[in-house]
Amino acid sequence: MAENRPVAFEPFGEEHQAFRRMVRELCEEELAPHAREWDEAGEFPRELFRRFGELGLFGIRHDPAWGGSGLDYWYVVAYAEELTRSRNGGLGTAMLVQGEMATPIIGELGSDEQKREFLAPALRGEKVAALAISEPDAGSDVAAIRTTARRDGDDLVVNGAKTWISNGSRADFLTLAVRTGGAGHEGISLVTFPTDVKGFQVSRKLAKVGNLSSDTALLFFDDCRIPARYVLGEADQGFYQIMTGFQGERLVAAVTAVAASQLLLEDALRYGQERKAFGRPIGTFQAWRHRFAGHLSRVEAARWLTYRAADLFNRKEMALKEISMAKLVACDLAQEVAYDCMQFHGGMGYVTESDVARAWRDLRLLPIAGGTSEIMREIVSRAAGM
Ligand SMILES: Cc1cc2nc3c(=O)[nH]c(=O)nc-3n(C[C@H](O)[C@H](O)[C@H](O)COP(=O)(O)OP(=O)(O)OC[C@H]3O[C@@H](n4cnc5c(N)ncnc54)[C@H](O)[C@@H]3O)c2cc1C
Repeated sequence: MAENRPVAFEPFGEEHQAFRRMVRELCEEELAPHAREWDEAGEFPRELFRRFGELGLFGIRHDPAWGGSGLDYWYVVAYAEELTRSRNGGLGTAMLVQGEMATPIIGELGSDEQKREFLAPALRGEKVAALAISEPDAGSDVAAIRTTARRDGDDLVVNGAKTWISNGSRADFLTLAVRTGGAGHEGISLVTFPTDVKGFQVSRKLAKVGNLSSDTALLFFDDCRIPARYVLGEADQGFYQIMTGFQGERLVAAVTAVAASQLLLEDALRYGQERKAFGRPIGTFQAWRHRFAGHLSRVEAARWLTYRAADLFNRKEMALKEISMAKLVACDLAQEVAYDCMQFHGGMGYVTESDVARAWRDLRLLPIAGGTSEIMREIVSRAAGM
């Protein structure tokens, strides 16, 4: 029974904490001061990929042979938690895609050639990576993707379209899901796809509600030729590889949701001491004290559910149910926390440039991307035998 497995109650040692301080300093001093400017510009400087690479932030749990640090997953948790202090969800998404979503599968299944050509430069931040699965007609239903890769001699010829692809317009390569076989789950493969091939086109950067500094693109493939040896691992096994990869993506979303909620509450409690109404600091009204007490309690509960999932993931145990539960609970909770914190800021909360408004916009993505809350409920209900 899962319930009897041991739990690490203090996952962070001194070295994790030193690493955490380094990321916090980076976020608070170098990134957060530009949060508004990068949202307004619709992008952050590309050089930041190099900066993160130099600091080893893309290779935390990757193999040292390819430039990673080979550290445990709690370093990734500390990194994702602190990344919320950049106060720019778009930047956070882009960086997590690079190190935690598009590249782990290459580290796991790639050939030495793929690791040399794609993984190592991505971990250094020299090449920008994207994970391209979703299509105009297939998001939640991954088995319905239609982008094809037809074998032609030693090549694969790729045709189709991908949408909502984070880092999509400036990616140097994609970890791309294509159909190499028949319909359904069985005929999908993952390939490494360099974006400088003929026939590849970034159709447009999508205008979004939030994550404004992140580049989210619609991509087209018109007879794009790549070597057939760029298939990752076994051909036609891509659906299962994607589902495995989703575990890391969903877990890091849960970690982000908890940390961002905590940060919103810290900000609100501070604001509640400064802002006065009816001659009192607004934070002293019982209505708000009770509301925030409830949120703090539920954020703490979500944190330990997420840590429980992270502990299993770190020990490479099956954690499908726990990760799905953590993503569902933490990402839905973040909506309520962001809504109330915005309300607590009154008119200031509705000003687009405020930190709370940016967080409210950015966090809205969490119950949608990487598997919606409805899909998480579907997984949990199946795991419970319903
Ligand atoms: C900003 C942003 C960045 C993204 N980045 C990436 C990326 O980098 N790479 C990538 O591949 N994709 C990316 N995505 C795509 C994202 O993963 C999908 O949007 C998501 O999986 C949902 O798919 P969909 O949008 O097609 O919605 P649909 O699948 O069309 O779902 C629409 C609605 O129907 C519900 N629904 C679907 N099936 C069921 C069901 N069985 N039971 C109950 N309800 C159901 C959904 O929960 C949702 O509410 C990104 C999306 C956004 C918005």
